[in-house]
Amino acid sequence: MNIRILGAHNSESSSSSCVTFIIDDKLAVEAGGLTAHLSISEQRDIEAVILTHHHMDHVRDIPTMAYNFYNAGVHLNIYAMAVVNEVIRTHLLNALIYPEFQKIPEGQPIVRFMPVEPYEEQWINGFTILPVPVRHAAASVGYQISDTHGIAIFYTGDTGPDLAECWRHISPQLLMIDVTMPDGHEDFVVKTGHLTPRLLERELISFRDIKGYLPRVVAIHIDASHETEIREGLALVGEHLSIPIDVAYEGMLLEL
Ligand SMILES: [Zn+2]
Ligand SMILES: [Zn+2]
Repeated sequence: MNIRILGAHNSESSSSSCVTFIIDDKLAVEAGGLTAHLSISEQRDIEAVILTHHHMDHVRDIPTMAYNFYNAGVHLNIYAMAVVNEVIRTHLLNALIYPEFQKIPEGQPIVRFMPVEPYEEQWINGFTILPVPVRHAAASVGYQISDTHGIAIFYTGDTGPDLAECWRHISPQLLMIDVTMPDGHEDFVVKTGHLTPRLLERELISFRDIKGYLPRVVAIHIDASHETEIREGLALVGEHLSIPIDVAYEGMLLEL
C-alpha cells in the first residue's frame, strides 16, 4: 500500500494544504487539498473519494474535481455518510455555487453518492473500508482501509478524545490521527473535537491497553501556525511511549 499525502493541515497557504491523501494513486481520502496537487490525468485515475465529515477543509475540492471529471466524461464516486452527501448536495453542488453534477448529464450523472453506514464494511475496487464513529463537532467517521495483502491503516479524520470504543473495532498497522493544536489549547480542542499531543498520548495508551500493541503513528490535520509547538509536543509523546511519531507533510510518501 502506497500513501501519498497531498494535504496535511487544517488550512491553506503557500506551504500548507487541507487534509487529503491518496492510496495507490486511485483511492482519495478527503478532498481538502485534492485538485491542486494532482494533474488532470492523475485526477482521472482516482476511482473513489471517501469523506469523513462535511466540514469545508475536508470537502472543498469536490466541486472542482467534479468539474474536471465532467469535462472528461468520467464518474466520480463519493463514499460518505448520508448527512455529508446531503450537505454537498445542498451547499456546494446546488446549482448556485456550482452545477448539480449529481444530476448531469441526465441519466449518467458525473457525481455518484455512495452512502456509508458506521460499522458496515464496503468494498471499493480492491480496498475494504470500515467506517467507525469518532468524536467531532460534526457527525464524523474515521476509516479503516485494508488492501488485499493484509495491510490496514486507520485514519481518524477530525476527532477529539475518548476513542476507546473506536479502538475496539480496528487493528491497523498505521494510525493517521488528528493532532490539530499544541498542548496549551486543550480547552479549545476538547470543545471543537480535536487532539493535542498530550491528549494523543492518552489515546495511544488506551489503544495499547485495549489492543496490546501500538501501530505506527502519523499526526495529521496540523494547524500550520502552531506547527513548531505541536512537533515539540509530539517528540515528547514519542519519548514517553518509546515510539517514533511522524508528522505528516505535503508530499510525504508512506509505504506499507
Ligand atoms: Zn471538522
Ligand atoms: Zn478539519
